[in-house]
Amino acid sequence: MDARYKCRAVRSPRGARVSEIDWGDGHKSTYPHDVLRGYCPCAGCQGHSGTIAFIAHEDGIALELENITTVGNYALSLKWFDGHESGLYSYKYLRALCQCAECAPASVAASREPLAR
Ligand SMILES: [Zn+2]
Ligand SMILES: [Zn+2]
Repeated sequence: MDARYKCRAVRSPRGARVSEIDWGDGHKSTYPHDVLRGYCPCAGCQGHSGTIAFIAHEDGIALELENITTVGNYALSLKWFDGHESGLYSYKYLRALCQCAECAPASVAASREPLAR
């Protein structure tokens, strides 16, 4: 398996609003929970359109995690404090959501490509 999609460790202090993942290639990702929750991949949050989008939730939605379970060797299942637990976050998906300075500018740069004239 590609080391980039191998999760070595997950850190999510109880009550925190941020989780960290250490990857097999040495990369570290930090995820604010509003990002994780907003990108919850379950059908209940995303509908069935097939494209994943950031869903802004109303105030008051749980941004603390109650439980993190590894699913096989390919995904994490996150259970939020309000009981929502249908989101299955594959490591590939999580890696693509990385918010670090190294990964995030790549997507920003792509969207700033000068328009062809
Ligand atoms: Zn969901
Ligand atoms: Zn990153």
